[in-house]
Amino acid sequence: MYRSHTCGELNAQQIGNKVTLSGWVQKVRNKGFMIWVDLRDRYGLTQLIFDEERSSKELMDKAGSLAREFVIQVEGSVIERESKNPNIATGEIEVLVEDFKILNSSKTPPFTIEDETDGGEDLRMKYRYLDIRRNPVKNKLMFRHQVGMKVRNYLSNEGFIEVETPYLIKSTPEGARDFVVPSRMNEGQFYALPQSPQTFKQLLMVGGMDKYFQIVKCFRDEDLRADRQPEFTQIDCEMAFVEQEDILNIFEGLTRHLLKEIKDVDVAEFPRMTYDDAMRKYGNDKPDIRFGMEFAELDDLAKNKGFNVFDQQELVVGIAVPGAASYTRKEIDNLISWVKRPQVGANGLVWAKYNEDGSLKSSVDKFYSQEDLKAWAEATGANPGDLILVMAGDSAKTRTQLSALRMHLGNELGLRKADEFAPLWVVDFPLLEWDEETERFHAMHHPFTSPKKEDFALLETEPAKVRANAYDLVLNGNEIGGGSIRIHDKETQSQMFKYLGFTPEEAKEQFGFLMDAFQYGAPPHGGIAFGFDRLVAILGGQESIRDFIAFPKNNAGRDVMIDAPAKLDEQQLNELHLKLKL
Ligand code: ASP
Repeated sequence: MYRSHTCGELNAQQIGNKVTLSGWVQKVRNKGFMIWVDLRDRYGLTQLIFDEERSSKELMDKAGSLAREFVIQVEGSVIERESKNPNIATGEIEVLVEDFKILNSSKTPPFTIEDETDGGEDLRMKYRYLDIRRNPVKNKLMFRHQVGMKVRNYLSNEGFIEVETPYLIKSTPEGARDFVVPSRMNEGQFYALPQSPQTFKQLLMVGGMDKYFQIVKCFRDEDLRADRQPEFTQIDCEMAFVEQEDILNIFEGLTRHLLKEIKDVDVAEFPRMTYDDAMRKYGNDKPDIRFGMEFAELDDLAKNKGFNVFDQQELVVGIAVPGAASYTRKEIDNLISWVKRPQVGANGLVWAKYNEDGSLKSSVDKFYSQEDLKAWAEATGANPGDLILVMAGDSAKTRTQLSALRMHLGNELGLRKADEFAPLWVVDFPLLEWDEETERFHAMHHPFTSPKKEDFALLETEPAKVRANAYDLVLNGNEIGGGSIRIHDKETQSQMFKYLGFTPEEAKEQFGFLMDAFQYGAPPHGGIAFGFDRLVAILGGQESIRDFIAFPKNNAGRDVMIDAPAKLDEQQLNELHLKLKL
């Protein structure tokens, strides 16, 4: 028996008991006549004591040889501590060691295994197994497990069945590149790793599974934007015989359940916002509605007043920043430089201060009267004391830029509070999205999403106007889930492939299996997938998903611990019938 108790378990009630503990040496304090060792495991810390008066010389010497991260097994008795530590669960006691075994020694770790470590990110990733011994990482992994359990229980109670789907498959178009795996047994052929189990979950519906879910790995070969991982986890779900409303209700229920159970917050019914409204009011299809600063379109109020810069632009749009009329010239200049950075790419920013005395002072006073500026204030909802910021340009770009500024200011002004939760549904996404590069329409969600019936006729004439039965669940400015009602008949699905630029042959080759299945009584169905890593991070009150993943990849998609990806040797390449071009 390696242990009778864990290192987080003993308290005053066990005083006098003999115990056996196993764990890692966190710290040794050697006073010569007395040695204290903090022993750590997943459950906590227990203080061990070796005392010249009560322990043999041999035992004292052996204890003196202990160093950080040695793995030891100790036997001893629980005694009351002289100086108690109320900050830890075992703070009332210590274990007077009677004997111990070194189960394994350790090299000095490359960084301190403490909550506040001296190890930088790269070093910690290289020795991730040591990093996981630290509370901040360990606790996040345990938290992730808790969230996963709650999701599984909730869905299982709602009648969902967890079904696994294969990883070695054929391409699923979800907008990214596939990771591919060469087949040794099928010369010259490749599997693709799933970008999501999309087609399989639809086939499960054809198979009558009715309510499916899976906490599942997905793989997307994208250029890594900040805080994305090439492999990530989804809570993937699909239901048959449902309409959009049914899906929104079930998954609003799941989200509400998680918020209540994990954060103890009650949220009212989730607001719903159309995609168009989200773009118009927030310039963003995943608006953070914990704070206001809604966009106001100022075209009618700001164009044709002699200010050329605005006159020529497609859109003039502004926001009111609460309490920011007191910003200094320097602070405003900083904002202007901020929006001009290539990451945002704006041309500039016009500002107007709505002073406490009711007067307005702007960077364009030459062109706009007090009345004009008052009208801006009214439109943006500015009150005395607020700062109005205005941008102009191409509609889509300007909205995106102003949205970036709004989020930046939300952070700066402390309006994005970690303990506040503001979920909403964004609905009625466009079905198609024009891609400048390929000069083609792409499916905004994926090619299996059904258009709204009432917009169907527009597909031939104004495809960009067609709305989809597609929805996203947004929480605090993050898309945490997204899904759609699917097409479930062969005819419509083939038509959709045609609109997306597939020839009938290509469609058949890539998705023949799905269209075949649709000929055998496919039920109406729809679903959703949640980004599990992000959801866990948000519930855990953190921005970054990385620490909630045991072994994450770095920004270049590398695992620096195992050093992957890596080269294959000649023999392996031969077996796979591959020849490198390099
Ligand atoms: N497969 C979709 C995704 O990964 C989700 C869905 O439509 O259910 O985004």
